[in-house]
Amino acid sequence: MTIMKSEILSRSAEKMMLPVTLADIEQAAARIVGRVTRTPLVRSSSLSGLTGQPVHLKLETRQPVGAFKLRGAMNAILSLDEAARRRGLVTASTGNHGRAVAYAARELGVPATICMSSLVPTNKVEAIRALDAEIRIVGTSQDDAQEEVERLVQSRSLTPIPPFDDVDVVAGQGTIGLEIVEELPDLATVLVPLSGGGLAGGIAVAVKALKPQARIIGISMERGAAMHAAIAAGKPVSIREEETLADSLGGGIGLKNQVTFALCRDLLDEVVLLTEDEIAAGMRHAAHEEGEIVEGAGTVGIAAILAGKVRLSGPTAIILSGSNIDPASHRKIVDGAAA
Ligand SMILES: *Cc1c(COP(=O)(O)O)cnc(C)c1O
Repeated sequence: MTIMKSEILSRSAEKMMLPVTLADIEQAAARIVGRVTRTPLVRSSSLSGLTGQPVHLKLETRQPVGAFKLRGAMNAILSLDEAARRRGLVTASTGNHGRAVAYAARELGVPATICMSSLVPTNKVEAIRALDAEIRIVGTSQDDAQEEVERLVQSRSLTPIPPFDDVDVVAGQGTIGLEIVEELPDLATVLVPLSGGGLAGGIAVAVKALKPQARIIGISMERGAAMHAAIAAGKPVSIREEETLADSLGGGIGLKNQVTFALCRDLLDEVVLLTEDEIAAGMRHAAHEEGEIVEGAGTVGIAAILAGKVRLSGPTAIILSGSNIDPASHRKIVDGAAA
């Protein structure tokens, strides 16, 4: 296949107009330093042995709320003006973003209201309640919860903190990319869990700016892979939300997506989809071989390697994005019960 020079030029021109820049991410890093954890990047001897390449795990499971979402939430809240902060924050969440907003709000002394659907696992709801946030459970989908956010923005003038489609949230998540490149200067590939695309988009902006040759691979579950469907269609499309072991990857990208669709379409080299059995195998590997309790969404990078669905060449970083699964479900999956 030949690629026309004009195509390359127009693609790079498009990239110059991306909605989030390396400078945004560097500013985010300076803003959130000391308020989020600089997580360890550890070598996995089992995955390095299996692939013949140096494979490293970025342990976002070690953030205070058990997931990387604290980076974006903290950066977005710190970027608000004082008046917007004082009115109080509101967000919709499948769990981890809501928990991160609640945690950051409490740290910064700001009230927060978290809207979520009845599909969100109880352990995640309780974790948010424990952070003093006001909770509203509405409908059966992320879209229902999002509509409640919009009502509260209108009726109570609360300030929305979107889960992914926001420049400051994406810039916060992108700080993971800065840390990885700093520690792995020969970085060749990053495997990133992909849902709304804040995580993958932010990391891709940082890594591609610093290491243009590095490949960024987004990984979702087959059951309701919204960004994959959008990239295939050339625009955001609605998808049916289904239950999955990777519950934190559920939900649409928003039909009016402003930021993350363009980032993922233009910067991801590939999107890989996994079956439920493959995700379960990833969780088992994380527990048995790496000694890490990782929720389904957090293990998709490991799972993609075990499933033979990604080919690695050179130093690789896998984002273990979160650890929030209730112990009983985790035990059941890790002990080998069918998914
Ligand atoms: C939110 C989340 C993701 C996906 O992040 P997006 O920015 O929505 O793509 C992956 N893993 C975990 C644990 C999450 O909470």
